[in-house]
Amino acid sequence: MMHHFFLPPELIQGSVVIFPDATLHQIQRVLRLHDGDCVMVLDNSGKWYQTLLKTGSQGLIGQVLTIKEADTEPDLHIRLMACVSQREKYEWILQKGTELGVSEFLPVISHRTLIQKPAVIEKKRSRWEAILREAAEQSHRGKLPILEPAMNFGEAIQTGDPASLRLIAHTADLTPLKDTLENHPVETYDLLVGPEGGFTAEEVQSAVQAGFYPVSLGKRILRMETAALAIVTAVIFHSSNE
Ligand code: SAH
Repeated sequence: MMHHFFLPPELIQGSVVIFPDATLHQIQRVLRLHDGDCVMVLDNSGKWYQTLLKTGSQGLIGQVLTIKEADTEPDLHIRLMACVSQREKYEWILQKGTELGVSEFLPVISHRTLIQKPAVIEKKRSRWEAILREAAEQSHRGKLPILEPAMNFGEAIQTGDPASLRLIAHTADLTPLKDTLENHPVETYDLLVGPEGGFTAEEVQSAVQAGFYPVSLGKRILRMETAALAIVTAVIFHSSNE
C-alpha cells in the first residue's frame, strides 16, 4: 500500500517534490522508506502525484512519475455541524467523519455545549487540522475537509448552501431520517448534531425556521459522537452512488 502525503503546493516544483522535515522524518524514520520506494503526494487540488523517492545532493527528494485525478472524493457534499464536545469525542468525530467522506466540519456552540467561547475552540485549530490531514491521508482522500471557524448555534443555522438538505438530529422527533432523505434527493447536506445534553426546544424551533428538518436516528438514544457518524453513514448509504 502506498503512503499518502498532503503537502503545500509550492513544494511540488514541476516534477520535483521537496519534502518538509516532518514528512522526511515520517518517510525515513517512521515508515523506513528509501530510494526507489514510491509515495503518493497530494496538493489538495484533487490530484494524486505518484512520486519516486530519490537521494539528491540535498538529501531525499521526490520525482513525480504520474499525475492523476483522485477518484476517492465523495459524490455528496456533506457539511457536518456537530456541537463541540469533550476533546476526545470531537477529535474522534473529525477523524472518523473524514474517513467516511465529510467535506466540511462546522463546530457549533449551542446552549448546552460545555465550551461556550469560539476563541477557546480556535486554539485547537492546528491540532484539529493535523487530525483531518492524517485521516485524509490514511483514507486516501483527494482533498482535505474544510474546518470552518466555530460558530454559535444562531449564527450557524443561517449559514450554508441554500440548495442543501438541512437536517437536525433530535431525540424527541420521530420523523425517520430515511423518509426525509427519500423525499429530498440532493447532493449537498447540512447535518446538525447536538451536544451531550441535547438541543433545547427553542433551538429545534429556530432550526426548523431556518429550513432544517428534524429527523430521528432510531428509538435508541445515541451518544453525540455515535449520532454524528451514524447520520453521515446513513446519508452516504442512502444517497451516494459510491
Ligand atoms: N439527553 C439528550 C441526549 C442527547 S444525545 C436528549 O434527549 O436530547 C446527543 C445528540 O445526538 C442529540 O442532540 C441528537 O442530535 C443526537 N441523537 C442521539 N440519539 C439520537 C436519535 N435516536 N435520533 C436523532 N438524534 C439523536
